[in-house]
Amino acid sequence: MKTITLNNGIEMPIIGYGVFQISPDECERCVMDAIDTGYRSIDTAQAYYNEEGVGNAIRRSGIPRTELFLTTKVWISNAGEERAARSIDESLRKLRTDYIDLLLVHQPFGDYYGTYRAMQKACKTGKVRAIGLSNFYDARFIDLAENMEVKPAVVQLETHVFCQQAKMRKLVNPYGTRIMAWGPLAQGANGFFTNETLRAVGAKHGKDNAQVALKYLTDEGIIAIPKTTHKERMASNLALDDFELTDEERDAIRKLDDGKPLTADFNDPALAKYLLGYDRQFNPDKQ
Ligand code: NDP
Repeated sequence: MKTITLNNGIEMPIIGYGVFQISPDECERCVMDAIDTGYRSIDTAQAYYNEEGVGNAIRRSGIPRTELFLTTKVWISNAGEERAARSIDESLRKLRTDYIDLLLVHQPFGDYYGTYRAMQKACKTGKVRAIGLSNFYDARFIDLAENMEVKPAVVQLETHVFCQQAKMRKLVNPYGTRIMAWGPLAQGANGFFTNETLRAVGAKHGKDNAQVALKYLTDEGIIAIPKTTHKERMASNLALDDFELTDEERDAIRKLDDGKPLTADFNDPALAKYLLGYDRQFNPDKQ
């Protein structure tokens, strides 16, 4: 399993398994399958409501905790120093572990400075090994990175062949921050799985579009966390070490970049309102 070194010296697998939109009931089975297939890094979040499934699976797997890498994220309704601190303890309980490898501020809304301060403290007390951000773009990223003592180890952003985050990659470099791709398969949008450029490259190597795209991203030093509920796809998404892309192939894939996200614009007021109310559907008492 290839790893990447984060800005605090911690090693993290460059490919992980994401569990967004996997129901709490199914999550345990999926993570068991992913671990069985060879994944050692799992990406969940408080707002996915499946941290328990991840925790049960890692316990049942019998794999030593030190060989696994767990990422979770603090949701907006837990923003602020005290609430975030309590939510970190709750995530630890649900994940059935005494430390989180990577903890992210999930969204750039609410009192995320307070959240980040709680995360810095959790680092100092050993509850968390590395901290970072998710969906923080441009000035929001710079503002936080400049003002906080611990520089974000990663920023998780929508990143795939159609949105390669060239600008953000340059911007985060001085902080040693790594890009972590959510939606690395573009969530199947924009004809990803039938894209002709990816297909032509894949045909030369006996690989499918997902494998070509994941190879490309990870070669670029981008951490990727593809999601699938199918065990055979888990295995194929991980089978990237038996082929190499040529410079010409990389150039062709680079040209697929449209320079903008397909699914979420974090400057869109409507998206902000939607996300600020997101977990009310699960927690009516938080209205
Ligand atoms: P992905 O780009 O990983 O795409 C997932 C989709 O691709 C699913 O529909 C899956 O279907 C399908 N798929 C996966 N592998 C294959 C394959 N080999 N062949 C054909 N279809 C395939 O999207 P996600 O949004 O899930 O992103 C990945 C992870 O990123 C999430 O699970 C989550 O951990 C994280 N994330 C973080 C966000 C954030 O705000 N920080 C936002 C969104 C995601 P099926 O399951 O049926 O196989």
